[in-house]
Amino acid sequence: MSNIKKVLIVGAGIGGQSAAIGLKKAGFEVDIIELHKEFNVYGVGIIQQANALRALDAIGVADEAMRRGSPYGKVKLCLPHGVQIGEAGTPPIGRFPSHNGISRRILHEVLFEEAQKIGLKYRMGVSVETIDNQRDTVNVTFTDGTKDSYDIVIAADGVNSKVRKLVFGEFKSSYVGLSVWRYAFPRPANLDTGYIFFNKKHKIGVIPMTSDLCYIFLNSAEGDNPNIPEDQLVAKLKSYMSAYPVPLVQDLISQVNDAKLVNYRALETLKMPAPWYKNRVVVLGDAAHTTIPQLGSGAALAIEDAVVLIEELQKEGEAADVFDRYMKRRYDRCMMVVDVSETLGAWELLEYNDQPLPEGANMGMLMGKTGMALTAEI
Ligand SMILES: Cc1cc2nc3c(=O)[nH]c(=O)nc-3n(C[C@H](O)[C@H](O)[C@H](O)COP(=O)(O)OP(=O)(O)OC[C@H]3O[C@@H](n4cnc5c(N)ncnc54)[C@H](O)[C@@H]3O)c2cc1C
Repeated sequence: MSNIKKVLIVGAGIGGQSAAIGLKKAGFEVDIIELHKEFNVYGVGIIQQANALRALDAIGVADEAMRRGSPYGKVKLCLPHGVQIGEAGTPPIGRFPSHNGISRRILHEVLFEEAQKIGLKYRMGVSVETIDNQRDTVNVTFTDGTKDSYDIVIAADGVNSKVRKLVFGEFKSSYVGLSVWRYAFPRPANLDTGYIFFNKKHKIGVIPMTSDLCYIFLNSAEGDNPNIPEDQLVAKLKSYMSAYPVPLVQDLISQVNDAKLVNYRALETLKMPAPWYKNRVVVLGDAAHTTIPQLGSGAALAIEDAVVLIEELQKEGEAADVFDRYMKRRYDRCMMVVDVSETLGAWELLEYNDQPLPEGANMGMLMGKTGMALTAEI
């Protein structure tokens, strides 16, 4: 085993909590800090493909996530009237189904409850102020005035990572020209799996979230200024939804009536150049690779990053050896997801702007091929 024992994790999102749980279970001394005083995770869903479940299983929470979520098969790809034209998703891996739909809030709770069970203490409302990243130790001062030293620091603080900025410099995410709208609903009785309906101006997904709940996501192109005033959110989302005659969507429109429940976001992407480590600081999840959600795989990558890093930390070697092995196992796979997602997004954008797609562009085929690639061992 390496001589790394004491670890600071910055950021208690999906990646940070996964790393904290796995490392604590493996016997490391773990501190985890979170910028926000309280979690305020929105109640729309997150798609967990089979590879995400496999990674959650490595830290011992896949069964609870499936019990509280909603396992389902491949996603049916359909025309706006409902005629099926294909299917997509990662094939099942062993006992893990193609997908588990789950509310983000519930996934967070599953992770947090597991962390509490094994005695992890979160320091909420705290961030890093300074990081002195030496070859053999990292000295950290925190925003609450305290200080400590660690064998390594894991940056899991998301797309706008402060740790990344302090240690590696400035990398900015870029807006891809697309936005996503999400809204949660009581689950219709006939929602037997995930569905995506495509039309020429946007696409809408209807995704199971629990046995009682589902959510929609709708991708649209909002141009150079994607900010939409709150008082326009409900009307705009309803008008987009009305372009889909299929009853599964039509029956939901009248339930969209609270702007506060419309989760609207412009989509951004970021690729931190390799290596994702320097001396004793290593980066994982969105802080290293923020993908647009065209493959529903960003969180899966963050959990897989955590699992691989935990495995490598339990082997022999100095920090640089451990981090180098982590990079070798993670870089190409993460870039594949970010790049394919960007390609799918670029094709969507062309279509929504009435421009021709490149010759041979086939969204269903690219999604299927990438879904298959994600079943490979990590
Ligand atoms: C619209 C949308 C839909 C998506 N859908 C899916 C999906 O269906 N499936 C999927 O797998 N992925 C999906 N993703 C991607 C997924 O949400 C992210 O990849 C995932 O949340 C990344 O986890 P993370 O832990 O790396 O970062 P985050 O979830 O961003 O967590 C970072 C944490 O760090 C904290 N933090 C930030 N700054 C600091 C600081 N300075 N100090 C301390 N703490 C800090 C934050 O408060 C947060 O708790 C989607 C993303 C978007 C935008």
